[in-house]
Amino acid sequence: MKAHDGLYIDGAWRPAASTDEIEVVNPADERIIATVPAGGAADVDTAVRAARAALPAWAATPPAERAARLAALRDALAAREEEIAETVTAELGSPLPFSRAVHTAVPLAVAGSYAELAATHSFEEKVGNSTVLHEPIGVVGAITPWNYPLHQIVAKVAPALAAGCTVVLKPAEDTPLTAQLFAEAVHEAGVPAGVFNLVTGLGPVAGQALAEHPGVDLVSFTGSTAVGRRIGAVAGGAVKKVALELGGKSANVILPSADLARAVNVGVANVMSNSGQTCSAWTRMLVHRDQYDEAVELAAAAAAKYGDRIGPVVSSGQRARVRGYIEKGVAEGARLVAGGPGSARETGYFVEPTVLADVTPEMTVAQEEIFGPVLTVLRYEDEEDALRIANGTVYGLAGAVWAADEAEAVAFARRMETGQVDINGGRFNPLAPFGGYKQSGVGRELGAHGLAEYLQTKSLQF
Ligand code: NAD
Repeated sequence: MKAHDGLYIDGAWRPAASTDEIEVVNPADERIIATVPAGGAADVDTAVRAARAALPAWAATPPAERAARLAALRDALAAREEEIAETVTAELGSPLPFSRAVHTAVPLAVAGSYAELAATHSFEEKVGNSTVLHEPIGVVGAITPWNYPLHQIVAKVAPALAAGCTVVLKPAEDTPLTAQLFAEAVHEAGVPAGVFNLVTGLGPVAGQALAEHPGVDLVSFTGSTAVGRRIGAVAGGAVKKVALELGGKSANVILPSADLARAVNVGVANVMSNSGQTCSAWTRMLVHRDQYDEAVELAAAAAAKYGDRIGPVVSSGQRARVRGYIEKGVAEGARLVAGGPGSARETGYFVEPTVLADVTPEMTVAQEEIFGPVLTVLRYEDEEDALRIANGTVYGLAGAVWAADEAEAVAFARRMETGQVDINGGRFNPLAPFGGYKQSGVGRELGAHGLAEYLQTKSLQF
């Protein structure tokens, strides 16, 4: 695969100070497809300095001009749609149609939404005898995961640029090639040198250096709760702002009045999508005890249909983790009704689409994020019981409610401790705020709420 052997800093590809490298592996065939630099603390420092130097001019650039650059960025990404899809498929392993339909289409929509928001947002407002200015927070350190390689980058960089911030991005080590394509698109879009900088590298090295750097004003992190906690502590110590998008264990609550077959089928599809590597996946299906056996049968049949339609998980480490959870679930008393820890395929990091039934709320598989194609199905007695189970984890990222009557579903959704709820299936909205309650995170991404994360206010009194 095409790869740059440098880092994109201050408007050009430059050799890294560090001589370390990252080998990029195709998870579908386990072949090394490219190597990229593993930047170190010195590289992060160079990138942060470039971002700081570019900040005054970019912050002072009229929002309409920032909007024009974002529109050009969206177009530059659109022009390489197929290349991006192929790259995501090569380094993440997702089937090409999914890379086209989701991994490229969603970030294009988000980039487009910020081109519009930058042009229309009020960066000034009147409050009584004051004028409140919404000013860029400064230099952003963005740290992203591999599961939706381009979306995670666009969801941070586009609002940051719209706000007038400059950025240093440290993408996930498993998917640096998509990040390099993104940097190329930024360059083509005519974004001034230093406004966006890319340092590929390892989390505990480049990621940590970025989070700790005194020249970074806001750390925006998406990833695991364990790393998020560390980044929050580092940022807290330096009194710097932090935005955290972390893990989830979302509940898919099927109320007795719902269309059971539809709710189960859509629920299974939601979990198997992207091989289960979606932070907002509805990994706990909650079914009334009278419908439980039927739901389990439907779920097992639906999962079996995914067979070889889903891609591998991202790495051998992730595969071992997911298989370990399946084994633990069975050991704690869950019943395997589809899939399992083995795989018929010898090459590639594949995990069978798996359904665990007879899962109870206190089991490990009902509490911890698995991040693989594994659905747990839990039984509830009545609505109060369903609510207690739905809210009974440390997470609160997403969820779903199904009912014949939309108002009934909405009434239940209001009582859920979670940042997003899909009603009878829902539909992705790039303008709706996305983020977590409880240990699923701090702050919101997407739309105007996502933009606000990158702004700070100054009040002028008259
Ligand atoms: P991860 O936390 O291991 O890594 C995420 C990023 O942090 C990577 O770029 C990594 O290099 C970096 N990193 C690792 N250690 C670091 C350190 N000590 N200091 C600074 N940076 C460091 O997570 P992952 O395995 O890449 O992603 C999976 C996790 O991300 C899952 O838990 C998932 O739920 C979560 N996730 C959350 C959202 C959301 O929006 N809430 C979206 C996608 C993924």
